[in-house]
Amino acid sequence: MTRNQEARVFDAVVVGAGFSGLYMLHRLRELGYSVRVYEAGEDVGGTWYWNRYPGARCDIESIYYNYTFSEELRNEWTWSSRYAEQPEILRYINFVADKLDLRRDIQFKTRITSATFNEKNKNWDIQTGDGNTITAKYFITALGCLSASNTPNFKGMDRYKGELYHTGKWPHQKVDFKGKKVGIIGTGSSGIQAIPVIAQEAEHLIVFQRTPQYSSPAENHSYGPEFLQTIKENYHKIKQQMIASMHGVPSIPRDTPALDASPEERQRVYEEAWEKGGLFTLMYTYNDLGFVEEANDTVAEFVRSKIAQTVEDPEVAEKLMPSYYYGTKRPIIDTNYFQTYNRKNVTLVDIKSNPIEELTPEGLRTTEAEYEFDALVFATGFDAITGPFFKIDIRGKDGISLKEKWAGGADLKTYLGIATAGFPNMFMITGPQSPSVLSNMLVSIEQHVEWIADCIEYLRENNLETIEAIAEAEMAWSQQCKIIAEMSLATKTDSWYMGANIEGKPRGFMAFLGGVGLYRQICDDVAAKEYEGFSVS
Ligand code: FAD
Repeated sequence: MTRNQEARVFDAVVVGAGFSGLYMLHRLRELGYSVRVYEAGEDVGGTWYWNRYPGARCDIESIYYNYTFSEELRNEWTWSSRYAEQPEILRYINFVADKLDLRRDIQFKTRITSATFNEKNKNWDIQTGDGNTITAKYFITALGCLSASNTPNFKGMDRYKGELYHTGKWPHQKVDFKGKKVGIIGTGSSGIQAIPVIAQEAEHLIVFQRTPQYSSPAENHSYGPEFLQTIKENYHKIKQQMIASMHGVPSIPRDTPALDASPEERQRVYEEAWEKGGLFTLMYTYNDLGFVEEANDTVAEFVRSKIAQTVEDPEVAEKLMPSYYYGTKRPIIDTNYFQTYNRKNVTLVDIKSNPIEELTPEGLRTTEAEYEFDALVFATGFDAITGPFFKIDIRGKDGISLKEKWAGGADLKTYLGIATAGFPNMFMITGPQSPSVLSNMLVSIEQHVEWIADCIEYLRENNLETIEAIAEAEMAWSQQCKIIAEMSLATKTDSWYMGANIEGKPRGFMAFLGGVGLYRQICDDVAAKEYEGFSVS
């Protein structure tokens, strides 16, 4: 098939122009395929285009949270600090899009609403929100795991008269909170980044917390030129460590159980990790924290003691203390989060024990009290992982609907998180049941993009028309994902990994917990065995 823009026929259609879609476009274009990317937003960036809230930044160290496939890109870019802020990450993505001349094959402001596999010609018919149909041999989703923002449907939403924001759809112009009373609902990763920054500007900030979090200090700092030079010189070795690791960063958990150490030794080790900062540092101190309840209790208790030491009002400190297993929700790192509750202009409201009943014209009412504010921020996260898929009517063979097949998430079945039976020539970048959100996502994205491009090349070289996951293979994969998840403490906590943040969403762990290194080996092995577990024709 050759490119024909008039007729809107492409070798591949990619949905989404974040890190995933951009690299997929580049990779396939380099191999000579015609590719069109469709993006709902007005420009490139994905997560970093939409999430412009105060304090937004990465929590994987910047030097690892970037593309690694091109030495040229790597050498021409310099990160300013350990955890780059959203504007800097967005500048980086724009730099890549310009350097690789990607925009000419991206159609912005276009939402894909449906995709149907045409069994007669073995192509996908893909529809845009403005009613156009495009045809492509390969339908590739680069939708993002965290791109479908979640806004709870409170009673009285239509009556609320103040300003309303969602962290995941932040305005492009600066929002001025100076002199204002602000309410914020949600204390997940976004809320914990935004709260200290908004508190500094607003006259008063009321934090509505449903679930307290085990956040630890980011210890952000600027990068010195010598350090960056050393990283650049050693990047090849660093990359090998990243791709073979558990979470896509060049470090590994210490091979010692917490329960073998004395309380004094554990305290010393936890203190050291706390001082160092970083997303996995505390979790990596011992190898049983994610699996053994008593081991997990020791680190959970350590973080609670830190909260007690930091927050001056004991009643507020108590409300901020989590009781679920440490590390079973997405880890969070912060800059002065707990310290913020010592400010006179910050109030914490526990909405677990006093749920929000409704929004009022001036604010909101809980079961216990009424609160007034000028602006309300929803830091209520996303319908994660499967959410963006369910916003598109995706239909495979025999008109089977993906949404029905996955039964809203409970009966999730994929093969390697890349493909799903009944949907030939459809590939998912960081799809459900892949390591995705449990990892440095740039590592996972690059691995998927390269695997998919290699697979498409294999089909071309062998004159094959379609590839489709075999039902038995996906059953075995889904079972394996479930077994690994259940070996850990992760399934014992209500988290967005489990779909628990969305009302009515069926529960089930949605990612592969075996680590990016093992996962890569499995995917490579499947490819080496001529796509074992897939049927090709
Ligand atoms: P996205 O960046 O989400 O891009 C997907 C794009 O697809 C979006 O632009 C969306 O508009 C578009 N799209 C979706 N559906 C459609 C449709 N139907 N039609 C057209 N377009 C569509 N990960 C890390 O590894 N480290 C971090 O530090 C980190 N920090 C994060 C901080 C925040 C605030 C958030 C929200 C996420 C963070 N993540 C982090 C996860 C982050 O999403 C990934 O790292 C990465 O940016 C994902 O890239 P992507 O291209 O796969 O998806």
